[in-house]
Amino acid sequence: MKCAQCGHEGLESGVVERTVNVGELGYTAEVPAKVCSSCGAYRLSLDTLRKFGELVAADLAREGVSSPDAFKYMRKQLRLPAKELSALLDVSPETVSRWENGKYPIDPRAVKLLGVMVLASVGDRPGLEYLRSLVQKREPRDLVRRLPALLATGG
Ligand SMILES: [Zn+2]
Repeated sequence: MKCAQCGHEGLESGVVERTVNVGELGYTAEVPAKVCSSCGAYRLSLDTLRKFGELVAADLAREGVSSPDAFKYMRKQLRLPAKELSALLDVSPETVSRWENGKYPIDPRAVKLLGVMVLASVGDRPGLEYLRSLVQKREPRDLVRRLPALLATGG
């Protein structure tokens, strides 16, 4: 495998720290990567990117984060087009767009429903207890969110 940055031949298996920002939250985890010994660039497998996305979306859902960026992140993690989500929620596509742009405050019921869908997609069984956990929940004060390290899969 060739480094896309410097063209160096032969990337090595290693671990890197990946951070993704969702609004004001920064999600960090150690993830397996192919690292260039020459320039330090790295690449992540699709599997790793998918798993990282799942962990972030599930944390956003569990914490009931309702920022426009969180809403959009969770929707994208579900591979749910904004138009389809708007149909599912009985609102216009423009409404979803304005929620995600921060132009309208997001309907808190839409945040909960999206959270239920995200948690169900990662194998949780969100129900009454999940909704109860969100009542009077404060958004996370710790803006740096540390995720469990991802393990290398396959070769
Ligand atoms: Zn390189």
